[in-house]
Amino acid sequence: MKVFKFGGASVNSVERVKSTGEILKEYAGEKLLVVISAMGKTTNALERVTESFYANRKEEALALFEQVKQQHLTTAKYLLVTHYLACEKQLRDFFTEVEWLLHDNPVREYDYYYDQVVCVGELLSTSIISHYLNEMEIANKWLDVRDIIRTDDNFRDATIDWNYTTAKINENVKPLFATTDIVLTQGYIGSTDENESTTLGREGSDYTAAVFANILETESLTIWKDVESVMNADPKQFPDAQPLPELNYNEVIEMAYYGAQVIHPKTIKPLQNKSIPLYVKCFLDPSLPGTVIHNQHLKQLPPIIVLKEKQVMLQLNSKDFSFVGEHHVGQLYHLFEKIKVKPNLTQNGAISFVCVVDNQGEKTERLAMEAAAIFDTQVTKDLLLLTIRHYTGESFDKLTAGKTILLKQQTPETVQVLMR
Ligand code: ASP
Ligand code: MG
Repeated sequence: MKVFKFGGASVNSVERVKSTGEILKEYAGEKLLVVISAMGKTTNALERVTESFYANRKEEALALFEQVKQQHLTTAKYLLVTHYLACEKQLRDFFTEVEWLLHDNPVREYDYYYDQVVCVGELLSTSIISHYLNEMEIANKWLDVRDIIRTDDNFRDATIDWNYTTAKINENVKPLFATTDIVLTQGYIGSTDENESTTLGREGSDYTAAVFANILETESLTIWKDVESVMNADPKQFPDAQPLPELNYNEVIEMAYYGAQVIHPKTIKPLQNKSIPLYVKCFLDPSLPGTVIHNQHLKQLPPIIVLKEKQVMLQLNSKDFSFVGEHHVGQLYHLFEKIKVKPNLTQNGAISFVCVVDNQGEKTERLAMEAAAIFDTQVTKDLLLLTIRHYTGESFDKLTAGKTILLKQQTPETVQVLMR
């Protein structure tokens, strides 16, 4: 058995849904658990619906939701003939659930409403695609993942109850494969023991797919993306970025830690624990090799580059020129935690402490202001933070040429420089 995950971009048009069907056809005869995201930018659109609703702009919320409805109905109409009516009925049930809520007045916390509204994106997309595949004679069973993935009620960032979810998958998902090759379901969403919908954090579908792979102990997980493979740098910043045919889990976790937009570490853990390989493949051209990520040791990796822009450096000096001790540093970390910022780099000296953070506007202002109550604080904006893993002298010189280096940190594997 394999798990496949298709993201929003792979189903953002009628054409793309059709190609997703083509890919699945290639795997006829295999048992597949398929996780599919909301179509295109639906999640963002539903976020705006929730914002309007919560700001008591009911008409606006309903109008915005109407757009989401029409988009899905139109897509369904283009894709379906014999299955259209059955699909429309299912879509309308989901619409009604949301509209019912939008007619109410908000009395609970924002995050609760967010999850009740936003979860519908994945339900709509999977409903349409499931009907489409059945119409194409790619037989599959649609599953409401909220009946399977049990979470706590930490809305928008819910934690999975592994025991309950494992039991559910064993009891209710595994048996489905006796009568079908494809089980099609949603990522990113779950539900509490009170049947309230929850979400697992943005981009959470990859994580859901990994959870299924772990519990079903599948031979692999494949994430279908619109890129050729995982690259050694962001091709938008570095047009000569190279594909990486092979990586291991630890490397991916390191890359993500330094800010590469690869695969979320949360997704890696369930796979790593059971040594399940992760394939990243291109849905635009499935013949490309893509990347395989596994548990094995890798001998030689090329330099892997992460360049973060819009960095802010805070230089904090003790007000009385005394040493910056544990007490000061402790206060500072307390601030990071309170304001919810994660420093990208820190350096501790005798009388100063330097930290580098993403420019998050107000949050960063607040950090600087509160730090200034404890330290003499100097703020420098618009800097670049370059990280090179498996650096070579050549790669370092090339990437720092013409730049002024303000700070450098180095280990045998990784070098980081703050530059202007
Ligand atoms: N649809 C959700 C999002 O856009 C979850 C996902 O696609 O992973 O964040
Ligand atoms: Mg996505």
